[in-house]
Amino acid sequence: MIEISQLQKKFDDVTVLESINFSVKKGEVVCLVGPSGSGKTTLLRCLNLLETPNQGTVQIGDKRVEFGSKRLSKKAIKDLRSYSGMVFQGFHLFPHKTVMENITEAPLTVKKASKAAVIEDGEKLLKKVGMIEHKDKYPDALSGGQQQRAAIARALMMNPDVMLFDEPTSALDPQLVGEVLRVIEELAKEGQTMVIVTHEMNFAKRVADKVLFMDGGYIVEEGPAKELLENPKEERTREFLQLLG
Ligand code: ADP
Repeated sequence: MIEISQLQKKFDDVTVLESINFSVKKGEVVCLVGPSGSGKTTLLRCLNLLETPNQGTVQIGDKRVEFGSKRLSKKAIKDLRSYSGMVFQGFHLFPHKTVMENITEAPLTVKKASKAAVIEDGEKLLKKVGMIEHKDKYPDALSGGQQQRAAIARALMMNPDVMLFDEPTSALDPQLVGEVLRVIEELAKEGQTMVIVTHEMNFAKRVADKVLFMDGGYIVEEGPAKELLENPKEERTREFLQLLG
């Protein structure tokens, strides 16, 4: 489903990702873990071109984009983006739109589908994330956990092949974390392909097929979730996990 090879990303002269190689199979859940500043968010953003890598290739589905030599066409960027749905730390809902308006905006403008069909899809997804009774509310009337569940429904509306989550629970009060993680776990059970940046190690252990440990812009170690988190091979991974307790 996803194949990343020799990816490099610099901000000005500072290299923040180097020699990144990994793949994600259809239906697989991959968690990116590692210390703050190790490049996890930047890597996730490179997958849907919110950041443009300097070198390397990103293949998602049958779309392959090579970076480095020539400028990317708008079409290539749009094509690659259409494969993924992104959920951010800070929800990013439109404040002046209701939940239903938030989640139906993209399919109505991009897909040119009929309004009735889009609303029907929206209702199905809002039921799935436990938000149907809030469909006519505005974001500021919702808790952070409810806003994040609406944001997940919004990303799912475009039927993405892969869902990308950037620390989806780190802006939430602790008592709201569980409701969001449960929705993501449900998606995992349904076979949704996902790449998730997270600090929730117990969640990663439960949900991930594979965990990548990043440090200093490199993937230091990767492996099956339980194996890497309970029995890491690399010293740096061990130190990181010990610090978390
Ligand atoms: P993580 O998600 O692991 O905390 P990030 O991907 O956010 O790490 O950041 C990796 C490195 O890239 C950090 O040193 C950060 O300061 C730097 N960085 C991230 N975004 C930018 C940017 N837009 N401009 C310059 N430096 C950035």
